[in-house]
Amino acid sequence: MRRSRKVKILATLGPASSDEAVIRRLFEAGADVFRINMSHTNHDLMRTLIERIRTVEKDLGRAIGILADLQGPKLRVGAFADGAQEMVAGQEFTFDSNPAPGDSTRVQLPHPEILKSVEPGHRLLIDDGRLQMEAIACDGKSIRAKVISGTKISDRKGISLPDTDLPVGALTDKDRKDLDAALAADVDWIALSFVQRPDDLAEVRKIARGRAGIMSKIEKPQAVHRLDEIIELSDALMVARGDLGVEMPLEAVPGIQKQITRAARKAGKPVVIATQMLESMISAPVPTRAEVSDVSIAVFEGADAVMLSAESAAGSYPVEAVAMMDRIARQVERDPNYPSIINAQRSEPEPTGADAISLAARQIAETLKLAAIICYTGSGTTGIRAARERPQVPIIALSPVVATARRLSLLWGTHCVVTDDATDLDDVVNRACRIAVEEGFAQDGERVIVTAGVPLRTPGATNMLRIAYVDTKGQGGI
Ligand code: PGA
Ligand code: MN
Repeated sequence: MRRSRKVKILATLGPASSDEAVIRRLFEAGADVFRINMSHTNHDLMRTLIERIRTVEKDLGRAIGILADLQGPKLRVGAFADGAQEMVAGQEFTFDSNPAPGDSTRVQLPHPEILKSVEPGHRLLIDDGRLQMEAIACDGKSIRAKVISGTKISDRKGISLPDTDLPVGALTDKDRKDLDAALAADVDWIALSFVQRPDDLAEVRKIARGRAGIMSKIEKPQAVHRLDEIIELSDALMVARGDLGVEMPLEAVPGIQKQITRAARKAGKPVVIATQMLESMISAPVPTRAEVSDVSIAVFEGADAVMLSAESAAGSYPVEAVAMMDRIARQVERDPNYPSIINAQRSEPEPTGADAISLAARQIAETLKLAAIICYTGSGTTGIRAARERPQVPIIALSPVVATARRLSLLWGTHCVVTDDATDLDDVVNRACRIAVEEGFAQDGERVIVTAGVPLRTPGATNMLRIAYVDTKGQGGI
């Protein structure tokens, strides 16, 4: 089965989509990668979901990517003696370290390091910004704040501090346990929430040791300010518009989405646009016009993937939401303006063999109208650089490493196939041509481009490009 679009679809699994039958239908409707949200999934359920995804993968014979999304340091206030407390603009309220239940004047903020870091003038945004306060006095142990807007506060609501540099890493104790469990279960990608600085990536990299790709969720202004350094240390990015829209003015989010997408494309790091893409489909079988337009903008920008959260995890129409994204993406990619918009943002190649060959492969494939660019890639680097070129012709990433094929399933325009280890270059070309036919990308008599690194099995040594005639009645390719 091949997709007839370039952009990929990431679907979050949850109560509405935990059955194997629903996972299969989500995949058939267009989901390329599944996200498991560790904020809401225990280890047993995670392993069950992974098993079900792998069963679908085996039955359908397609590499499927799995992303485990770590909760990160999501800050929450403590609990109140009598539930929700009314708040009025102008009133004062204190956050302290006292674990006693809160009342209308105070509540615990069970993060001592945060109590030390907030300074007068910093904003405190509670419950996704529904309640806004500003710190007026801080003594290192408590924060006295004034209510700016909003009407209530209640048990364990999330709190965002967009003006405060938080002295916390991106990994909590829960995240470390979740990370170990996810790596042991062979997930392909790990998403790291609330990344603030490049250092946040060091620990997770050390633990992961290359077993999974690391995706940084950009949802803090601090991360936007150090975007280039964070991109450099990440394997992929997520524009996490949910928390980003709490921590930054909402009207700043579209521009930041463009900034992150362009920077990630330039660096050749896959970028995912996430949150509220088809939000109304949580409870309705059709989206709003504005949501359709939002998805289409992400596709026109050349993002690698668009993501569904509650729409597929907890909504009433998970399969319909995936099918709708698929339809929007296919329509945009057929639009006469689409190629020129994608081309307008193409970046110069970096001075490496992989980039020079990827650029040449795209130009040759487009000039000669070849059927596909086929990359024989062990580590995945060649596939990633080929996708960075955003060629009009399909990319087939052929890998003897199943983990590579799964990981690359997130990449724009890339169809991933696992193959046996090739014995030599002729074997690579023959396999590439046979697979291009089997997977529905080429017919006998058509030509394809095959790229590889010779000698085979030398990571990062892409140095070969061959135009081959597809001839499945002979060896496969000539
Ligand atoms: P979340 O991340 O769904 O884990 O909060 C995405 C976002 O904030 O947009
Ligand atoms: Mn978030």
